Amino acid sequence: MSFEGGCRCGAVRYELAVDDLPLTYACHCVDCQTWSGSAFALHAIVAEDALTISDSAHAFRLPEGQEVMSSDHIGCAACLTRIANRNPALPSLLVLRVGTLDRSSEVAPAMHIWIRQKQPWLTIGNDTPSFEVSPTPQEFAAALAG
Ligand SMILES: [Zn+2]
Ligand SMILES: [Zn+2]
Repeated sequence: MSFEGGCRCGAVRYELAVDDLPLTYACHCVDCQTWSGSAFALHAIVAEDALTISDSAHAFRLPEGQEVMSSDHIGCAACLTRIANRNPALPSLLVLRVGTLDRSSEVAPAMHIWIRQKQPWLTIGNDTPSFEVSPTPQEFAAALAG
């Protein structure tokens, strides 16, 4: 099975070859707020092999700077939608921006991270695992496994 998605203008499309919609987490850190222009970002970690992005995609590297780790991103150069990025700590995996999925309305976060920095008006239900900052990889896997 596969799921499709793409950027706002349609120039970049992708196919995600997985059996189910990916498990998603919300990151409330200030960097994600700035980068998304919103209150939090919705991410899913997917196998690099499972994601096929059209050749029209633009790759860019965020250079290392003050309080910034260098990282690689894939998106659309025309509308500036960011679709996925590589995390050096997660080899062979990509972090997908879940809002770019065509079926994003069917995805709800299974976990919230960096709630220390979340917007004060946003209330998270007690039934969803939440972490003050980043969970350990073990906590992360356990929370996503549900
Ligand atoms: Zn675009
Ligand atoms: Zn974040």
